[in-house]
Order: sequence, then C-alpha cells, then structure tokens
Amino acid sequence: MGLNDIKDRIAQAETAAGRAAGTVELIAVSKVQPNARVASVLDQGHRCFGENRVQEAAGKWPDFRESYDGIDLHLIGPLQTNKARQAFELFQSIHTLDRPKLAKTFARLAQEMGHCPQLFVQVNTGEEPQKAGVLPADADEFIKDCLALDLPVRGVMCIPPVDEEAALHFALLAKIGARNGLSGLSMGMSSDFEKAISFGATHVRVGSAIFGAREAG
Ligand SMILES: *Cc1c(COP(=O)(O)O)cnc(C)c1O
Repeated sequence: MGLNDIKDRIAQAETAAGRAAGTVELIAVSKVQPNARVASVLDQGHRCFGENRVQEAAGKWPDFRESYDGIDLHLIGPLQTNKARQAFELFQSIHTLDRPKLAKTFARLAQEMGHCPQLFVQVNTGEEPQKAGVLPADADEFIKDCLALDLPVRGVMCIPPVDEEAALHFALLAKIGARNGLSGLSMGMSSDFEKAISFGATHVRVGSAIFGAREAG
C-alpha cells in the first residue's frame, strides 16, 4: 500500500517483463479521495493523476496547481460532449474517446483552442452493454477516423469486466493497439496492474492501492 510500494512493484513488473525501467507511467487515481491524501502524494513528488469526472476535477485541481508545478492530469471516466471544452482546459490526457460525435467535437476544439490533450480510444473489450467504449469489431475503423481528423491518438484503453480474467482483455487490447500502430496501452488497476504490465501496459491507473479505500458513494 502507498505510493512507494506501488512504484517498487511497477519497477519489478517492468524488469520481470523484460522492459526498460520507467516505461510504465503511474496514473494515481485520486477520484473521491480526501484532499489531504492527494496533497500527501503530491508532497512525495508524484505529479501524474487521474480523475473520472470533469466536475470533480474542476473543483480541486486548479487549487493544487497553484501550489504544485508540473501536474499531469488524465481523464479516465466518460465524457459528455458538452463538457469537452472544460476537459480540454483541465486535462493533459483523455482516455475515454469512444464515439464519432466526441471525436468531431475534439477536432473542432483542437482547431479553436490550438491544442489538444493526448488521446486514448476506449475499447469495450468485454462488450458489456452498460460500459462505455467502442466494440472491438469497430475499433480499427473508429481509430482510423480519429487519425483522419488529425487527433493526437496515443493509444487505447480498457476496463475489463470485473468477473472475467483480465489477462484476456489486456491481450486483446494490446492486439488492437499493435495492429493500428498505437503504442500507448492504458490498462491495469490496483488489483491487476502487474499483469497489465506483463501484457505491455504503458499507463496503469491505480487508485485505492495508493490512497486507500474510497469512501462509498
Ligand atoms: C477508479 C478507476 C481506477 C482505479 O481503480 P482502483 O481499483 O482503485 O485502482 C482505474 N480506472 C478507472 C477507469 C477508474 O474509474
């Protein structure tokens, strides 16, 4: 538990996978965590964080940015089109690009604002009806369309179904990334980030194992 323990475990997983040290980015998922816990991780020198709601991020990160330099913020939750502009202002990366309407909005905002966050296309690898993401069968075409819009698509992202073997989903996502020439793989959470690294994860999203359990609700 805690930041240093997770960093050690990531380093070990990199070595075990025959990967160079520092090739996995640790996104500390701070959603719903008390500000004091987030500040403690910032005080330990960590700068890369993930939030799943624009509104919540807008409520805390502008203040943290006044006190800490170099914060790198990742949106890892679903994004409504009407919050896209605010997301562009707050986040350096967005992991949940999952539909044509959002891609078109991003392309327009990128033109208007002169910058665009790094993007990951979310793939619903488990084909779960309640979950966001493009279906695996539609991923190649959607990624092509996004690249044709000149969007800076860096990789793909998935959230495996809770009751299935995550390895199958990590392997599928890695395959989709590779065949589309995308090197970024956003996969792995507190319970399975080491396994994700063994399948090539470049970005792991770890919350409770760093900060402790989230309050319910
Ligand atoms: C909350 C969340 C995480 C982190 O989950 P933990 O199990 O606390 O590590 C990772 N990814 C997404 C998309 C999340 O919403």
